[in-house]
Amino acid sequence: MSELDFKCPICKKVLIGEDNIHKCPHLAFIFVSSGCVFEFIMPEIKKLIKDMKETSEVTFDYMEELKGILPNNITMYERTETGIACGPCSITVWIGIKKATK
Ligand SMILES: [Zn+2]
Repeated sequence: MSELDFKCPICKKVLIGEDNIHKCPHLAFIFVSSGCVFEFIMPEIKKLIKDMKETSEVTFDYMEELKGILPNNITMYERTETGIACGPCSITVWIGIKKATK
């Protein structure tokens, strides 16, 4: 078990567990701070990001900005794990979950 473990609040599928990232139909995006990349991103979120101001680097502020422009049906979750590998380190993962629309 890790502090980063994350289950989809809708279908309960494990999206982040052990060392793997899984997908489910509700997943909108997964962003991992350590790699500064989106592990997964829905095309409609990709488009939103394109419309955001150009930044050379994805930072925590960037994620805050993204949070501000997400559609109402997408909820952003945050998981942080602090560990000690070669000195203290922490990893933050942001997960976007799309609620069923009806
Ligand atoms: Zn799901």
